[in-house]
Amino acid sequence: MKKILLFSISFLFPVINADLKLNLDNELDLLIPKVIEWRHDIHEHPELSNREFRTAKKIEDHLRSLGIEIETKIAYTGIVGMIEGGSPGPTMALRADMDALPVEEKTGLPFASKVRTTYLGNDVGVMHACGHDAHVAILMGVAEYLAKNKSDIKGKVMLIFQPAEEGPPEGEGGGAKMMLEEGIFEKYNPEVIFGLHVTNIPNGVLSVKSGPAMAAASAYRIKIKGVQAHGSTPWSGIDPIMATAELIEALNTIVSRRINIINNPAVISVGIVEAGTRNNIIPEDSLIMGTIRTFDPVLRKQIYAEIEQIAEGVALGTGTDITVEFDVGGFYPVTYNEPSLVEAMIPSLEEASPNKLYESNTPVTGAEDFSYFVEEIPGLYFWLGVNKPGEGLDSANFGERTNVPGNHSPYFYVDDSALDEGVRAFVNLINDYPIKYNN
Ligand SMILES: [Zn+2]
Ligand SMILES: [Zn+2]
Repeated sequence: MKKILLFSISFLFPVINADLKLNLDNELDLLIPKVIEWRHDIHEHPELSNREFRTAKKIEDHLRSLGIEIETKIAYTGIVGMIEGGSPGPTMALRADMDALPVEEKTGLPFASKVRTTYLGNDVGVMHACGHDAHVAILMGVAEYLAKNKSDIKGKVMLIFQPAEEGPPEGEGGGAKMMLEEGIFEKYNPEVIFGLHVTNIPNGVLSVKSGPAMAAASAYRIKIKGVQAHGSTPWSGIDPIMATAELIEALNTIVSRRINIINNPAVISVGIVEAGTRNNIIPEDSLIMGTIRTFDPVLRKQIYAEIEQIAEGVALGTGTDITVEFDVGGFYPVTYNEPSLVEAMIPSLEEASPNKLYESNTPVTGAEDFSYFVEEIPGLYFWLGVNKPGEGLDSANFGERTNVPGNHSPYFYVDDSALDEGVRAFVNLINDYPIKYNN
C-alpha cells in the first residue's frame, strides 16, 4: 500500500514579489464562505454537457458584477473572462470545467441534486459526480480575488469556464476542443494554462505528476450484424450474440497477450453490450462499446490494428458482418504537464497547502480534455484532495484503490474545507509564474 509522501520544503523559496498574496489570508475569510455557497447551489442544480445554461448564467452574472470583461456562449455555454493586471507580463489562463453527469446522487447531502433528465433515451438523475461544481466555484472565487487585487497582477489572467468536459452529446462538438476551434487561444493568446481537479485523496492534498499525467482516451464501437431467426431454430440464422461473446473475450487478450505494456500501460474496457429484444428471437444485430486508454500514440495505433484484426477474424469465423469505429464522439489526447513548468511551480503549490504536496510518479488512466489546451501551450494540471478530514489517508494518487468513493460515483463527496487550498493554489500560480518561469 502506498503511503502519502509528506515532505516539507527544506528551504524557503525567495519571495521576490508577493504583492498579490498579501491580502489572501484576510480576504479568504470572507471569500471562502461565498465559494462554498456557490458550490452548494451549483451542486444542487447540475447540468449535463453542453446544457450548462444556468451554471453559465451564474458565472456570467458574477464576472460582470466584478467588472471583468467577458465573452459568452463559446462552444455553446463556455465563458472567457479577461483580467488586466497592473503591470505588464504574460497572459496566464485558468480553467474550470462546468458539466455534470447522468448519475443519480446518493450522498444524502442537504444540497444533493434531485434533478432528472432524459439521457440516451433513458430517464436518469443528474449529479456533479465529478466535482466540476467545485471547480466552477473555486474559479469564481479566484476571479473575485484577482479582480479586487488586479493592480498586483503581473500580466493578464484569462479565466476559462469550459463546458462539456465529460464529452458532448453524440452529434455535437464541445469542450476544450471546440473552444479552441472557436479561436480563444488565437484571440487572447495565453502563454501558460493551469487547471485542477478535485478527487478522493486526503483533504487539502495537492497532487501533481510531471510529464504524461493522464491517458489518451478513445471510445470504440463495434457493430455486429447477423441474420435474425427464431430462437428455436438457430441454424436458420446467424447469431450476432455468439460473435459478441467471442469479441469480448478476444478484446481482453489484447492487453494481456498481444502488446508489450511493461513501459507503456494500456487499458481496454467494454462498457456497453446491447443485443436482443425477446427471449425467443436471435436478433439481427448487436453492439459493443468501450474505451481505450494509452500514453503512447504508437501503442494506441497498434491497439486499433489489433481490434480490427480480431473483428475480421471473428466475422470470418461466425459469418457475421462486423464494423469497427474508433474515436467515437472524439478523442482525448494525453494530458501532459510540462516538466520545467512543474518544477518551477512546485513551491507555489507547496505554499498553498503546506506539507501536503504529493509528487506522483504514476500517470493515471483517466483522461481529460484539458489535454487539448496543453497540446497548444505549456500547462500544469493538478489534483486537489477533497476527502473528509482524516479519511482515506492511504492514497494520494488519483484512481488508486481506496474505500472513499471516487469521481463518477453516486456517493462522490467534496469536503468544503478543501476549497480554500484550490483558491490559494491558483492565486499563488498567477502571482508566481511571471517571476519564476522566465523563458
Ligand atoms: Zn469526470
Ligand atoms: Zn472531471
